[in-house]
Amino acid sequence: MSVSQSTHIASYQHTDEHGQAIRLPLGKVVCVGRNYMDHIQEMSNEVSDTPLLFMKPSTALVDMRELLAIPTNHGPCHNELEVALLIGTKMTKVDSEQASKGVCGIGLGLDLTLRDEQQRLKQLGQPWERAKAFDGSCPLSPFVMNNSLSKQKYFTFQLHINERLVQNGNTALMLTPMLQLIAEISHFFTLLPGDVILTGTPKGVGPMHVDDKITAVLEGHLSISTRVISQ
Ligand code: ZN
Repeated sequence: MSVSQSTHIASYQHTDEHGQAIRLPLGKVVCVGRNYMDHIQEMSNEVSDTPLLFMKPSTALVDMRELLAIPTNHGPCHNELEVALLIGTKMTKVDSEQASKGVCGIGLGLDLTLRDEQQRLKQLGQPWERAKAFDGSCPLSPFVMNNSLSKQKYFTFQLHINERLVQNGNTALMLTPMLQLIAEISHFFTLLPGDVILTGTPKGVGPMHVDDKITAVLEGHLSISTRVISQ
């Protein structure tokens, strides 16, 4: 491990859609699993009664506009494109209405997943962090600011790999909708300004390869292209 290898992690900062730095600290990322039926079906997973939650630490954060560095020595690293919510105010045990006021930005995140490692951990009954919370496992786009959630209810988002559409989601299809998710999360984990929520992935997950061209789109708001390199 060298100092230079970890530099890109230390340099991450939340930015807005104009590329300006957002003055919020980095915090935790609370992720939601199994929130779209088509993805549950493609993975042959069970539907959860309550949202499946896990976390990534702030050291997982990198800028999606930079080269996308994936681990190449732990089996396949899968894309999971998700709508990301940036938290603007502290929230503990809030309801859905309060939750809408606590979100200050909306963007995209990749929940990078070492799929074989995750399967191995699942079979052992162990937590998933090795497969999902490693350094650089959460590339984030800039955030569209000014409480977009109150202006627009549903968002369409897409992931293209080498110009091929592989994921095409709409937040209207979430099993637990965004504001309800935030409320549920806040009953277990206090959300702080700068924290991020990843809201789950639709179907179309699969392995990424070095040199793949990746384009992530939040329809009407953001389009980010990058290229995959080895970590
Ligand atoms: Zn995910």
